[in-house]
Amino acid sequence: MPGVIPVVSPPPSVVPVALRAKPLTAWQPGGADGASQPMPTEGPLVDRYGRVHTDLRVSVTDRCNLRCVYCMPEEGVAFRPRAEILSFEEIARVARVARRLGVISLRLTGGEPLVRKGIVELVRHVAAVGFDDVALTTNGTALAPLAQSLAQAGLQRVNISCDSLRPDRFAQIRRRGKLRAVLEAMDAAEAAGLAPLKVNVVVMAGVNDDEVIDFCTFARDHDRVVRFIEYMPLDAEGHWNRDQVVAGDELLARIAARWPLVACDPAGSDPAPAERYRFADGRGEIGVVASVTRPFCGTCNRLRLTADGAIRNCLFSDAELSVRTVLRSQGTDDELAVVLRRAVWGKLPGHGINDPGFLRPVRSMSMIGG
Ligand code: SAM
Repeated sequence: MPGVIPVVSPPPSVVPVALRAKPLTAWQPGGADGASQPMPTEGPLVDRYGRVHTDLRVSVTDRCNLRCVYCMPEEGVAFRPRAEILSFEEIARVARVARRLGVISLRLTGGEPLVRKGIVELVRHVAAVGFDDVALTTNGTALAPLAQSLAQAGLQRVNISCDSLRPDRFAQIRRRGKLRAVLEAMDAAEAAGLAPLKVNVVVMAGVNDDEVIDFCTFARDHDRVVRFIEYMPLDAEGHWNRDQVVAGDELLARIAARWPLVACDPAGSDPAPAERYRFADGRGEIGVVASVTRPFCGTCNRLRLTADGAIRNCLFSDAELSVRTVLRSQGTDDELAVVLRRAVWGKLPGHGINDPGFLRPVRSMSMIGG
């Protein structure tokens, strides 16, 4: 059947970063070599490789009510002092500047965004900016009672993380919180119109990879998009190792052996991190975020604002520029815009996880915002 994915062999252990650099657009001054070009001062947020940035991830807190094994340590987490965390007004101001620079989608994340007091108010602030898409990533444990108010405040979609459908295993992976609350949150989100609902599953070899077929059944039965995410070297405890990564190709091969799959975007033109597949029988959809084995840096259009006011151009780069300094020294919107432009302009062609000299970033996932 055309478009049905073939069974693919596992990727080599060192996978080069895929760079599909787009040609530089006409408005950029200078020659053909991006590295020698001056940074543009107008037009969209573009980097040296022609990637236009239209997606802003905003971490609203580095705190979380869970302690997932792949993300945070169980005890002894050092959170940023409150005074360093951006206020709602500060976040909304950065969002407005980003919108002016062509950002069209905004995602609130964390830490756990729903533990930030007044989150509904923040959603109202950022939704008023006028993005095409306002979404939120949550562990779901506190979502059910808030779903309706979040939707009324302007939230359009949620991604809910859920790494196991078995209560005991859920407890082992997430170390706090209850599976039942997360499943109820999914129902509540859909009832509030926060759809389509995406369910994020971090797949770890020997931990939960035997649930891939169960998660597909779940996706098919509930019409929820389950996204399998490769385990990335962003856990706070530094336990990540390559053997625990289940390659996206391997997952797809396992799933396709049970239900044939059809790629939703075979040309790979969608900048979203997940490669999307429909089940060929028309029931349901899944996604694979193969950040480790099949990096999608060549089409990356994302930049990030950390809870303490740093702009990051990549999850894996320690290069940061502070908007907090500008915000708190009576800086202008134009000065904020320059920070965003500089951050994007400095972006490297790829995240480098598979380079021999790769060093994991100093900040772990919860301190950046996933
Ligand atoms: N607390 C929210 C949640 O649980 O969804 C939002 C923040 S969390 C950092 C965002 C996403 O990052 C979640 O889907 C989580 O599963 C994922 N994540 C965290 N650490 C990861 C890691 N080491 N590798 C891959 N994904 C990870």
